[in-house]
Amino acid sequence: MKYSGHFIFALSTIIIVNKIYFFNNFCKIIFFKSILGCIFTCFLPDLDHPNSIIGKKLKYISILFYKLFGHRGFTHSILSIIIFYYILNLIILLNIKISNYLIYFMTIGYTSHIIADMFTYQGVPLLWPLKWKFSFFLFKKKYIYKEEKICFLFFIFSIIYYYL
Ligand SMILES: [Zn+2]
Repeated sequence: MKYSGHFIFALSTIIIVNKIYFFNNFCKIIFFKSILGCIFTCFLPDLDHPNSIIGKKLKYISILFYKLFGHRGFTHSILSIIIFYYILNLIILLNIKISNYLIYFMTIGYTSHIIADMFTYQGVPLLWPLKWKFSFFLFKKKYIYKEEKICFLFFIFSIIYYYL
């Protein structure tokens, strides 16, 4: 999936999460923090691809991940979501001030990437190290523009849902 698709999917997800959890307690600061936290991490699972946005920024780590797990391996699994969540919690233990909300939003951003990749033909190995690939099987072939359309429709849905 393209970066724009992941961006739109993460943004839509966080809009829906805000609506569900802060329905009676809307706060602009939390809303903007949630968007920033989510967008910041929504490209992170592609760290296992040296030519991705995040892979180019962290070249050596990216090459290491690519050699160890391959693209769409460990970093696209449930196990990686759990480890990512606990790494963020470790940051709190190091006395770096980061709110619990931000940790949730960053984890949601990371997870949104994996869910978005499930709309692709290739799918993702959710149960890594098992090699089964999980996909919503919407398309029999690689139609990247249809994936983009799904993300765009999800965005429209999130906006409508937010204002209901
Ligand atoms: Zn990916």
